[in-house]
Amino acid sequence: MAKKLINDPRNVVRESLEGLVLTQPGTALMKDRLIVVRPEQVVTADNRSSVPVAVISGGGAGHEPAHAGYVAAGMLTAAVSGEVFSSPSVDVVLDCIRAVTGDAGCLVVVKSYTGDRLNFGLAAELARAEGLKVEVVVVADDVAITESDANAGRRGLAGTVLAHKSAGAAAHARRSLEEVAAIARTVSAGLGTIGVGLSGVTVPGASGPGFTLGEDEIEVGLGIHGEPGVRREKLRPADELVAELVQLLITDRQLGAGDRVVALIGSAGATPPMELSIVTRAVAAQLAARGIDLVRVWQGLVMTSLDMAGVSITLLRLPDDEIGSDLLALLDAPTASRAWPGRPPGAIPHLQLVPAPGVVPEPLDATGHDPVVRAAIDAAIRAVLDQEEELTRLDQVVGDGDLGTALARGARAWAAQPVDGSGAEQLRRLSEYARRDIGGTSGPLYAVGLLRAAESLASGASWPDAFAAGVDGVRDLGGASVGDRTMVDALQPAAEAAPDGLDAVVDAAQRGADSTRALRARRGRSSYLGDRVEGHPDPGAVAVTAWLAAVRDALRR
Ligand code: ADP
Ligand code: MG
Repeated sequence: MAKKLINDPRNVVRESLEGLVLTQPGTALMKDRLIVVRPEQVVTADNRSSVPVAVISGGGAGHEPAHAGYVAAGMLTAAVSGEVFSSPSVDVVLDCIRAVTGDAGCLVVVKSYTGDRLNFGLAAELARAEGLKVEVVVVADDVAITESDANAGRRGLAGTVLAHKSAGAAAHARRSLEEVAAIARTVSAGLGTIGVGLSGVTVPGASGPGFTLGEDEIEVGLGIHGEPGVRREKLRPADELVAELVQLLITDRQLGAGDRVVALIGSAGATPPMELSIVTRAVAAQLAARGIDLVRVWQGLVMTSLDMAGVSITLLRLPDDEIGSDLLALLDAPTASRAWPGRPPGAIPHLQLVPAPGVVPEPLDATGHDPVVRAAIDAAIRAVLDQEEELTRLDQVVGDGDLGTALARGARAWAAQPVDGSGAEQLRRLSEYARRDIGGTSGPLYAVGLLRAAESLASGASWPDAFAAGVDGVRDLGGASVGDRTMVDALQPAAEAAPDGLDAVVDAAQRGADSTRALRARRGRSSYLGDRVEGHPDPGAVAVTAWLAAVRDALRR
């Protein structure tokens, strides 16, 4: 059974809606119905003639925050939910329409799935027969399905949320049912969405996902119900994949230079904001390259498929006339929905860069180049690069697995831009690289150690004294002493052995690093692991030993 935070799988929808209304001011759950509604918009004999046009939508559950998350002033009046991935019944939809439809009428926004079209369509017809003014707009934004495909036709996907938003804003502005429906139809006509899945979906109570993908496989052209896509492809870098998807949208929607579009980038549920932003960046670049004017871009969880990893890209063309500017204003209009990703309204999607403050340091001293120091540093840098994988492996056991890559970033900075100068000058530059490129805990500690050593050398100290000054710097900033299971366990004995020569230094560091196997960590990330680290050496101490040994070998030559 897939791990999920649920109770009885039969109650997931009801329980999730009960939780949702707690987080969304101005909403309520209808008794014995999976309907979320704004109570102030529920029609009574008193307000029947004064309530604005209602905008309702819904469908199967599992697409959270859709649809109930959009029930809020300026967006949906009510949302009807079915069970996970299954359309609500005609009667429940009818109850929803009856509850919120006053004299101004009601727009029902339907995602194009056979079940939703039938249940919402029949409910609307029954409501009309009762004398209510009801319009239905069906959204079918799925560009993966071509007109010639032999199937039930295009499906409604994440782009539907743009219809909710604009029609909801128009209703909030007290426009007529005809106008509100016309806006939803304009959106529906200009919309295109394409989805890709990186994983399958596990429905609550099911033992596993509906389909499984190989490590490097993706599904292109997905619906939102955990069904496979139109075709299976190899995973490629995000930019390449997005280029293909955007091209599909452009061809389908016949977009060209000068067209104005808004874009909505949606997570299928499990894809994190970091990846969404990488997709957003690529979408913006693709559109810019074609001269298409991206006037808004929003991203987030908009229309999900439970725990699926994947992303959808929606483009909506804004008509060139006043209808287009009106539509943009409606999309920008404020709404109380927390789920609507277009907040704050009106952000312009162009990357702005501000320059970083740059400071050129004064030289520490003006003496000539020291080739021996340069050879020693170069050797230490090579040792760190050679040990990259091993240090990362060690840090995975007792830390977070970034030490090798982090130190290697600093090492590569030196390899790319080594400096010639006095020993002090070279160490100071190495300190700058450590500060700028390593990060984590090691970055600042190496930076301070190298800087103190550089300053000490510049003021005429001997090498052993400069080394000791550097180690003091590490202890001052990090607060670690011998026995705390850190790099200090290698550095401190090494510094104390410095007057006895390089072999003594390396031996002392090695013994210190070995001693960490038996230590519990009192500093750094490992300190949270208690005795789980026992038997493993501290990776920072191992790193020290590796570069000290390389320095010794270089100086011996
Ligand atoms: P993190 O990822 O935990 O921020 P790094 O991976 O950059 O840190 O470095 C981990 C190493 O840093 C440890 O193996 C240990 O040698 C060293 N370390 C952690 N805390 C301290 C400290 N307070 N003083 C000295 N060294 C420390
Ligand atoms: Mg680490």
